[in-house]
Amino acid sequence: MRTAKKRIAFYLIMICCACAACGKAEEKKLQIVFQYQMDYWDAYDLSGSSIPDQKEFEALAQSYIQETEKLLGISGWWEKINPGADTLILNLCITGETGSVSRASYGKRALDNEVEAGISLGGMALTKYHSDGFLAHELTHVMVGPSFSISLEDGLCQYVQGTIGLTSHMPGMKENGIAFEQYFKTYHEYCKISAEEGAAPKPQDIIDSVGKAGRQYPEGPRMMWMMYSESFVRYLISQYGTDRTMELIIAGEEEGAYEKILGKNLTELKDGWISSVEAVEQQYTWEEIGRMEQEFLQK
Ligand SMILES: [Zn+2]
Repeated sequence: MRTAKKRIAFYLIMICCACAACGKAEEKKLQIVFQYQMDYWDAYDLSGSSIPDQKEFEALAQSYIQETEKLLGISGWWEKINPGADTLILNLCITGETGSVSRASYGKRALDNEVEAGISLGGMALTKYHSDGFLAHELTHVMVGPSFSISLEDGLCQYVQGTIGLTSHMPGMKENGIAFEQYFKTYHEYCKISAEEGAAPKPQDIIDSVGKAGRQYPEGPRMMWMMYSESFVRYLISQYGTDRTMELIIAGEEEGAYEKILGKNLTELKDGWISSVEAVEQQYTWEEIGRMEQEFLQK
């Protein structure tokens, strides 16, 4: 039996942000303390993943945190969780080779100067191909915290994963120059055909659950709901910008927030979203997309 090892590493993230009061640059520092319950790189073969050793994992997590701050405009996010914090305690778990699910606990106040969170990465993808195990997605949960709508929250995490993550939920698409909108159009049309054949739920049933208030995951295929939620969040960002979309996700408390913050209610917004998806000209068949994914994963 392997002896469980606990490893701790320290990192310092320097973030410069403009101080509104004086206009001078002010430095905000977040120290990251990584904690491990065991030596995952000894226990599993992660050599083919994007985190082949502990050092690479820590460097990747650090850079994802910085890139996500920039992408979403949430510098100093840890001070919203604990105003006196300057340290993030990040506990990592990697599940065994059969683990397909990744998850995170929200950042929470720990000691006076600490925010603590945990992420668990599914080992299945990590031991098979060049994947980060949805690390960018999970870190986004930690940094942004819970939203009134789990659909908006997970849609946002998927957007970050697809934008800065390695081997996102659409493997090989970035490498083939296929934008999310084009990929999603193909996926949406494929879902319609599958529903007609009785092989998948009707896209409309999924669309109905997207953007709703509530913290419960709806029944039905999780990945399909995630894809539609991501598409909706991307639509909001494209129409209203990142700042207002983030305000909705973070400050919104119920569905009335759509009207209050974006000026349209959820039904109007979803009508606009689906019209924009229908208007995209489809360039690839589902089979072509599938072949590209396979080619990428076999490299
Ligand atoms: Zn998630």
